[in-house]
This record gives sequence, structure tokens and C-alpha cells, in this order.
Amino acid sequence: MRKKIIIQGVVQGVGFRPFIYQLAQEHDINGWVNNSAVGVVIEAEGEKRNLKKFESDISLKKPTLSVIMSYESSELDDIGYSDFKIIESIKDQKASVLILPDTSTCNECRDEILNPSNRRYYYPFTNCTNCGPRYSIIQSLPYDRHGTTMKNFTFCHDCKKEYKSPSNRRFHAQPNACTNCGPFIELIDNDGNSILSAKQTDSRIVIEKSAFLLKEGKIIALKGLGGFQLLVDASNDAVIQELRKRKNRERKPFALMFRKIVDLEEMVFLSEIEKEILTSNASPIVLLKKKKDKKSNRKISYFVSFDNPYIGVMLPYTPLHILLMEEFQNPIVATSGNLSSEPICIDNKEALESLKDIADYFLLHNRPIERAVDDSVIRFMKNRPMILRRARGYAPLPLVLPEIKYEILGVGAQLKNTIALSRSDHVFLSQHIGDLENEKTYTAFVKTIEDMIHLLEINPKLIVGDKHPNYLSRSFAEKYSKDHEIPFIDLQHHYAHILSVLAENEVLLNDGEKVLGIAWDGTGYGDDGILWGSEFMIADWKSYARKASLKSIALPGGEKAIREPWRILFSIFFDMSHNFSEWEKKVNLWQNFYRVEQLNASGKKLFYSILEKEINTPRATGMGRLFDAVSALLGFTRPVSFEGEAAMELEFLAASEVNSLKKRINQERDYIFQIQNTEINYYEIIEKVLNELSSMNRSKVALKFHHALVYLILGYAQQSGLSKVALSGGVFQNIILLENTVRLLKKNGFSPYWHQKVPPNDAGIALGQIIHGNQYLKNLR
Ligand code: ZN
Ligand code: ZN
Ligand code: FE
Repeated sequence: MRKKIIIQGVVQGVGFRPFIYQLAQEHDINGWVNNSAVGVVIEAEGEKRNLKKFESDISLKKPTLSVIMSYESSELDDIGYSDFKIIESIKDQKASVLILPDTSTCNECRDEILNPSNRRYYYPFTNCTNCGPRYSIIQSLPYDRHGTTMKNFTFCHDCKKEYKSPSNRRFHAQPNACTNCGPFIELIDNDGNSILSAKQTDSRIVIEKSAFLLKEGKIIALKGLGGFQLLVDASNDAVIQELRKRKNRERKPFALMFRKIVDLEEMVFLSEIEKEILTSNASPIVLLKKKKDKKSNRKISYFVSFDNPYIGVMLPYTPLHILLMEEFQNPIVATSGNLSSEPICIDNKEALESLKDIADYFLLHNRPIERAVDDSVIRFMKNRPMILRRARGYAPLPLVLPEIKYEILGVGAQLKNTIALSRSDHVFLSQHIGDLENEKTYTAFVKTIEDMIHLLEINPKLIVGDKHPNYLSRSFAEKYSKDHEIPFIDLQHHYAHILSVLAENEVLLNDGEKVLGIAWDGTGYGDDGILWGSEFMIADWKSYARKASLKSIALPGGEKAIREPWRILFSIFFDMSHNFSEWEKKVNLWQNFYRVEQLNASGKKLFYSILEKEINTPRATGMGRLFDAVSALLGFTRPVSFEGEAAMELEFLAASEVNSLKKRINQERDYIFQIQNTEINYYEIIEKVLNELSSMNRSKVALKFHHALVYLILGYAQQSGLSKVALSGGVFQNIILLENTVRLLKKNGFSPYWHQKVPPNDAGIALGQIIHGNQYLKNLR
């Protein structure tokens, strides 16, 4: 196994490279270490268990003067290094070397704020060189206090002394502060009246009062690290339902914050590596599987995540969170403080305006947040982390890719947008921005581009966008291209997905070698102008050929069908039928078990005639749509309240059949996709499920459907004659699908690649665009 490890922090000039060299010798590791512009980069190849020891020793035994602020490692294919080398440093004078992500509170600072005899007892803005805010407070470079939102706070005598003393943990800690000189918290009601302020009283009293209000069932908007969060008591059904109503967030799961890892252990399955990542500097939200029927689970309201077998959890990552959790003790819901689909609020005034109908109280402070950085979200796939939302703790950490030579801007897609900027060896991925249809999110998108270009001092020579003519990111890119006289090129969405997964896995291709690229998602603009999304592609770094995809599905009412998945099911029934009575027979069969209001006698006729006359029935081939249809077939009759909800429910049904993730899909193959030339037909599967509705176990059917997809991939891979299979697109956030696909491909001698640091969903598109742009410029020279 080979690992690429990128470490940022105080790692240069402190004997870090010799230390790594020694560790490598000790654990029989080959590869190299160097100082890159972004920190220390290590490539380590060796036995899996040696690598594990090597990695854990890095943090355990690191040189005394070194500080690890961020640590990212990913698995790559073996190269066959024969020794371990220290490679000469790459010289890069750009200031952006010093842009670090925000880091969770370190243990020393934690001990200080909980120690009554320490001068920082209960001070909510305690930090040191090892921890605290970075990316969220940086205004300009070089990174020092004057270039941060801390610039208006003047050090007191004690803080200044710490800051100036090289032996102190706070030596040059730019946001260093204390009760006497730093920011303070204030509790305000939703009319803007101050209740308690730490300017007049102890922070502790303000925090106690806030915890008391949470206990009373109030909704508190808390100004956190990278933006506002809405907090409520996680055991209180009524307040959670109220929060859902006020936030207009019907069923999308909420994330929880737990006080300590031990509280967590009784409720969820938790592996060692999951623990490590929860307590890491990045401190992300991790999706974990709930333990079933545990008494302890009753402490968490059903309305937090309904029947979802997974739950998103995090630990307190700032002093304010730690102190609040100390007072409150029990788990709280901590969800982003925004109006549905708007970006997360960062400014006090703005939050008071836009959240006043949601929150009862505001726990504010006067340290400004420079840019919104949401909580990151991670899910473990095959015991390896996969980042589903890359933001706090990771942004703006770059990928180090030696192939990258040019300065390029990739503007991403439309949903879950992120942007990317590159320069030699590095691709900087932005934090999660969001869905661009929303005006404020679009504004945030434009601002993020300007912000990152400025901070990273990158002058794009090329701008790359999605092929979709109506994506706002693309229109922006075209305008930007004209205004700045920079060439613009576009890139097919699903090829961008494939390039992104190939790039982050640094897949090495021999001359002329190709990979089988499988890009499955909800939607993306195809070369033929229809919506793709179930792509089997033969691809390399330069080009791709579309080889197969689902038989297209008509979406009656377009967006409406995506919101109401039963419409997609009945549209498939239409394609499967020769006349009204055949279609009605299928509908009736389904209606023996499930109901949809609109489908009374006249409703059916109307629906049929819309399909027959093809009135506003765009066709699409997204795998997400087939998931929607099968979910509807198994009883998902309500409208979806967030993107991917119906597909998620199908995954959960299947997950409940696989009662432990260790247990595998069995070998029986009931459902089989038919491949006819380039078209994958699913009629037989739909027909079979429909006829079995009376006798079947829904979970079993859901699992068998996943199973059929896994075998579809395997079958196609075998027939392709290729050995490398790249898996990307939002559908591969599905753990049952991904884990079983990877397992089966490996078992049959293939090398599967899937995402680690970059999300498989459209947040990864910007990376693919950079890779393509780099290739494009390389060909020009
Ligand atoms: Zn600290
Ligand atoms: Zn001070
Ligand atoms: Fe996509």
C-alpha cells in the first residue's frame, strides 16, 4: 500500500524531514519526504500494518518544536519504491503557504478553560499556535494579526508577553486573546435586546443562561467558527419539530454535537479510525451507524433523523462549544444557521435579520468571521474516509498533484458548488458554497472566486466551466472570460467527475491505457443535449467515449417529477406499456399497496395523456432517477423534501437488510439489467418487483436492486477488457452500492478507484475541470 500524506503547521525548520526519514527506516517504509509550498509531503509505501504504525508515530513522536495543524492522508496505488529519500525542497515564495484551515481546540487550551485557577477559565476565545481560527479570520497575507479580523483587539500585557516569548505555546499565535483584551460573548433575544453580556459579567454566567434556555426548549442561534449554527436540545421532540417548521426543513437529517466521545459510544458503532477523525484537528461531522433499539438512543429525538440508520455527529471544536456542552451535558442538534438554500450567516446584523423568525435567542460575539466555512461531513467507506462536504478543517488545503503546471480557474457545476484554483503542483479546492439558484449563494460564489484569487495570488490563464448552458457558474465563467480576456472552455459533466476521481487517486496510466469510468448521479448535461447521469465511459486523461447508459426516462413536468418520484415510476410504466389499459393495470397493481392523492380515475387519464403527447416531458438518463422510481415502487409516495431523499430511503431499506455492514450481499442474483448495445434496460426489474409487491420484503428487494447494480458494473468491467475502474458521481455516496462494488471488483482482479478527499458529488466537478484545463494548456504548448 502507498499513502500520500500532507502535513501543515510548524513543520519546516524543526527537524521534521529527518524525523520522518528515521521513522520510515524504523517501520520498513519506502518512498520520500519533501518540503513543498504547502507543508511537508510524504509518500510512504509499505505493508499495511507498518504504514499504520508509521502514521500513528508521526503524531506521537513528532519533534518537540513542530506543530501539526492539518493532516491529510490518502491511499494510492503502489509504485514500488526501493528506498526512502529526503527530496530537496520546492521553492515557492507565495504567501499562501501560510493559509491554514481552522483547527479544533487543542487539549492544553481545553484544560485551561476548564481549570478554575487558570486565567483563561471559561474564556470562549482561547487558542494557541496549535489550535484556533485561521481561514475563517484571514483578511490578507502575510498571516499576522493585522491581516485578520482580530486586528481591532489590542493585546493586554499578559497576552503580549505570551505572544512575544518563543518558549510560550502562544508565541506568534495571531488570534491570541483573553478576557481582558479579546472578544466577548453576548446573549440577545430575537428582538435584539441584550440579555447578558460578558463585557459586564462572567462568560460563565452567559453560557449557563444559554444552556438553561436550551433546556427550556428554546432555539439558539450561535455564532460559531465559520458561521452561525442553530442549536436545540436533541432530546426534545417539540423543539426539533418547531425548528423544522421555522427553518422549512421538513425531513433532512440534523447533525448532533456530543459532549464527549464516551457519550457517543453507547449510541453508535464507532471504529478506531472514526474516533481518530472525530477528535482530529479538523473535527468534522462523521456519519455513523446508530445502534438499534438501545435505550440510550431514546435520548435522541426521532425527529432528528427519522428512520435514517445513520446519524451525523461531531464533537465540540471551539472553546465556546466546549463550555456550552459542559453546561448542557447532553447532545444538541447543531445545524447551519441559514434560511433554506441560502449560505450560512456570518455577520451579527445579517443573522439577527435573517434568523430572527427561526431563533428565540442569539449567542453572539464580536470577533468578525471573514468568510463562511460550514462544518465538513465525512462518511467512512471501506474503512477509509470519504469527504462528502469539504469545508471547515480542510478548506483551503490543496491537493498536491505534480502534473499540474498552470494557473486555472474551475467554476464547478450548479448544485453543491465549489470552485478550484490551480498553480504549479497544487489544486486549491474552495469550501462548500452551495446551490447557485439561490441569489445569495450565487453572490457567495462570485465572492469566493474573487477572495481565493486574491488570497492565493493566482492569475488564471484559463477558465473551465460545465457544458450545461443554463448553469449559472458557466454564465459567470463566460462573462469573466470576456471581461478579463482569458480563454474559456467547457467540459462534459460526467467526464469531469471521472477526471476528478482519477486525479485525487493519482491513477497512473501506461501509454495508451484507458480506464472504465462509471459516473452516476442525478443529472448532468450530455453531449447530445439530453440529461445524462448513468455513464459508462472509456476514458483517459485526454478524452472519453460514452459507451453505455440507462434507457432514458421521461420526466413529466420536468422538475416536478424530480420532486415527486412517483411521477417517474408511472412514466416508466408508460414506457413499458403499449396502451392505456396496460399502463393502468400496472398502476392499479401498485395502488393495491400504496396511494397517491393525484391518481384518481381522472388524474390517471390526464397523466397518461401528458406522457402520450409528450407535454413537458424532458428525457433523462440519471441513475438517481432510477433510484427515485424504485424507491417509489417500494412505497416512497411523498414529495422529496431534499435532494436525493428518495434514493437515500432506498439505501436505508437495503441497509436494514444488511443488519451489519460486515455482512455482505449474498450471491443470489434475482434482478438482472439487460444491456442492449449501448442501452441498459431495467424494465424486467421493475416488472418483477411490481409483481412481487404482495409477497415481498421491501428491504430485501431494495438490497437486491443494489445487488443488481453491483453486478451490472462487474459485468461491464469484465466485458470492457480494462483493469482500472473509476467510480464517481453523487450516487456513489451510497455505502451499500460503493462498498459492494469495490469488494466485488477487487475480488475479480480489478483495481477500483473511489473518492477520498474530494466529494463524489458535484462538489468534485471543479477539480475535474482543472485537470482538463491543465491538459488543454499542455497540448497548446
Ligand atoms: Zn490550543
Ligand atoms: Zn489578554
Ligand atoms: Fe454530477
